[in-house]
Amino acid sequence: MSTGHQEQIKGRDVHIDDIEWKDHPQPFAEGGIRWKLLNVSPEMGSWTAIYDCPKGSYFAPHIHIGPGEYFLTKGKMNVRGGKGEGGASAEAPAYGYEPCNAQHDQTIFLEDSEFYMTFLGPLNFIDEEGNTVALFTWQDVQGAWEAS
Ligand code: ZN
Repeated sequence: MSTGHQEQIKGRDVHIDDIEWKDHPQPFAEGGIRWKLLNVSPEMGSWTAIYDCPKGSYFAPHIHIGPGEYFLTKGKMNVRGGKGEGGASAEAPAYGYEPCNAQHDQTIFLEDSEFYMTFLGPLNFIDEEGNTVALFTWQDVQGAWEAS
């Protein structure tokens, strides 16, 4: 029977330990970063993941097309060069908000760290000149998760 209603998106409950860590797609992270994709939301164009980041690991340069919120549950991370260069040095437990168009030339982990983050919109990985290397929407993120 067609009622003209769109199918309701189902809720989701995840026991995080039931999901296996996977290596983060290359070349967008170095140093052994692993992740668990917890959810994608077509309604919001968002995705939520948790990341396991060994000491010294880092993410490749990127721009947050939409804002993001994180919860650093463990460790220490430098965003936007860290405090010494006008950025932030987060130490767990830490919450952070990154606005639309936040550019992160290097996000580096100074200790073994773990953080949870929701990305509201695509992530644009860039090269040194600021050209797009890869644009990750929630669909791309889901595809990368399923392919790994
Ligand atoms: Zn970032």
